[in-house]
This record gives sequence, C-alpha cells and structure tokens, in this order.
Amino acid sequence: MDTSQKLLIETLKKHGFSASKSRIAVFSALLHQEPLTMSEIVHKLSGKVDRATVYRTIELFEKVNVVQRLHIGWKYKIELTDQFHEHHHHIICQSCAKLIAIDGDSHIEKDIADLAKKYSFSITSHQLEIKGICKTCQLLDV
Ligand SMILES: [Zn+2]
Ligand SMILES: [Zn+2]
Repeated sequence: MDTSQKLLIETLKKHGFSASKSRIAVFSALLHQEPLTMSEIVHKLSGKVDRATVYRTIELFEKVNVVQRLHIGWKYKIELTDQFHEHHHHIICQSCAKLIAIDGDSHIEKDIADLAKKYSFSITSHQLEIKGICKTCQLLDV
C-alpha cells in the first residue's frame, strides 16, 4: 500500500469512516491525475462503482479534506488536496476549460507567507487559480 493510500485510510478513520472498497477506488481514480470532472470520474469507475456512490464519496471526501473543487466558470473539477500531492497552482482556460498545473513558484509562496504574517494569519492552505484564454482559443476567437 502506498503512503497516500495509508493517509487516506487514516483520514477516514479519524473522522469515523471506514475505508471501503468503493472509497479506495474513487481515491485511486483521482491519484496522480489531472483534476477531473464528476462525469469523468463516474466514467473512469464505470462497472466498479455506481454513479450515486461516486457522488456520495466525493461529497464525503470534500468534508474530510481529501479532495477540493476547482471552479471553472459554473463548472468544477475535482482534485486531491495538497496533502496527497506536491503543492501546485493552476492556469485555467475559460473558453475550453484546459487546465495546466504549475509548480508552486517560490516567489509566490513567499509572498503568501508574508501576507499571512502581515494579517497575523496562520495559514492552513491556499489555492491559486489564474484564469484566462489559452493560445489555441485565442487563435480561434478572431
Ligand atoms: Zn482554451
Ligand atoms: Zn502555493
């Protein structure tokens, strides 16, 4: 069992939930992945976990901070929270919903830490999303 799966099981336990087969399957579908839409997750798990269970599991995962939502316009994608992968930020195309993960830039991280200090905040997490129009969509939209 890899460390991230262990961490999932611990997190579920801590909140009084068991690590059922379907919960582990939903988690695995998101591990080492670009953020996915709900329908992509359902599709990936078809034949293994039914749709209602996928939705319920994602809802539970959100509550216990295993996954987070990335809002793209009125839609959203799901990804695992920072404890399960390297901290990063996103650039999102508002036209085609293309999403690029960018490594946490040390300047940005430092600025965020400085801001927190200024407002006497102890940071638990942060998310940074840069929205715009990707190159392909810029060319299409003439
Ligand atoms: Zn685009
Ligand atoms: Zn960051």
